[in-house]
Amino acid sequence: MDLNLFAVPEMLSLIYEEMDVDTIEERFVNLVAEIFSFDRVGLLFVKHRRGILQGKLCKGFAPGSISSLEIPIDATSLLTRPLLTGYPFCGTNAESDPFTQALGLTNFAVIPIINSKRVACWDIKQCGEQQCPAYGKKWVRCWLLPETECCTALSLDRQKKKCEQCPVFMRHDSRATEGVMVVDNSLSGQPIENDTVILLSIIAHAAGMAINHSKAFTNVVQESIRDELTGLHNRRYFNERLVDELERAKRYGTQFSLLFADIDHFKAVNDTFGHQVGDAVLASLGRLFNRHLRHSDVVSRYGGEEFAMLLLDTTKEKAVTIAEHLRVSIAEETVAHADAPIQVTVSFGVATYNEDGHSLEGLLGKADKALYCAKAQGRNRVCDA
Ligand code: GH3
Ligand code: MG
Ligand code: MG
Repeated sequence: MDLNLFAVPEMLSLIYEEMDVDTIEERFVNLVAEIFSFDRVGLLFVKHRRGILQGKLCKGFAPGSISSLEIPIDATSLLTRPLLTGYPFCGTNAESDPFTQALGLTNFAVIPIINSKRVACWDIKQCGEQQCPAYGKKWVRCWLLPETECCTALSLDRQKKKCEQCPVFMRHDSRATEGVMVVDNSLSGQPIENDTVILLSIIAHAAGMAINHSKAFTNVVQESIRDELTGLHNRRYFNERLVDELERAKRYGTQFSLLFADIDHFKAVNDTFGHQVGDAVLASLGRLFNRHLRHSDVVSRYGGEEFAMLLLDTTKEKAVTIAEHLRVSIAEETVAHADAPIQVTVSFGVATYNEDGHSLEGLLGKADKALYCAKAQGRNRVCDA
């Protein structure tokens, strides 16, 4: 193998330092292709819910030939077998498999990317079958091996049912990234050596971990800035964006408006229909706000039944028109309920930078005061500062 081994840790650090999943995957494929000088590299991921392996990206393969692949996961398919056995597969003959045949793979390796813990099946089942080829091994599972006691003489259908009942079979995290990397030298005919495959397995595992970490990180970030019930941004995110926008408006002389919204007599909705129905009303309002406002606007659940919105590059006049439009849309919308459809109204307060204030506290105070006026004037109305 003509390989500079020092390139490998360098490559891993390039993968690990990235937090964006798509970039990690792209780097992974490009670096493997470059450092190992493969003719072609493909990356495919498991879609757990559909039970298939789906092509994602590649280098060297014809456009669309990998991304259009959807392969049912089973042990007979050369591309999905490594997912089940946990072992890479090296092939020098494509004829028996329609997918490797279609890709023209005659000198290739399929490396699994599996991150879920492989718990020893014999340990969990306490089967004591020392003759079983899986016995004593952590990575081999009895239900994958046709010659084991657990599967012998069972039809495929019955085998699958039995497998599904196995605690080991069930033990995987469907959110974890799993997939395979296909490396291919069918065009050049360069052999793919065992050492290379072992090294690739380690790299693939590391890349899988990096993808999982990045996904988990993105989830945590999303959860930390979103309100769970409505899916809108939360108060913390709103306040942070407000600070940023205030800074931007001061520097570039732009305008923005703040909308405060509070559901009218919401306590009565809870008292009459129950808290769950109240929650459904809040969620439905969240959807309505998202439908009516621009993607660039910041819509947040500010507190219990209060919402705050940041309308970028929006004058007071325009903000009042938008609030009025929202108010009418809410009053016309009903939330389905078994006894009777529920209708709520909302009061709005509007304040605009810079005519109503230059500071964060000043602007928030003005919007709040305008909302208070809308309530005092009888509710279901828009008041500006
Ligand atoms: P007003 O028109 O003056 O705003 O009257 P209101 O009844 O809406 O105001 P009040 O502050 O008296 O009551 C707010 C209600 O909002 C009481 C509280 O139980 C309800 N609320 C706050 N957060 C939630 C929530 O997450 N879910 C539900 N279902 N209700 C909530
Ligand atoms: Mg309130
Ligand atoms: Mg209220």
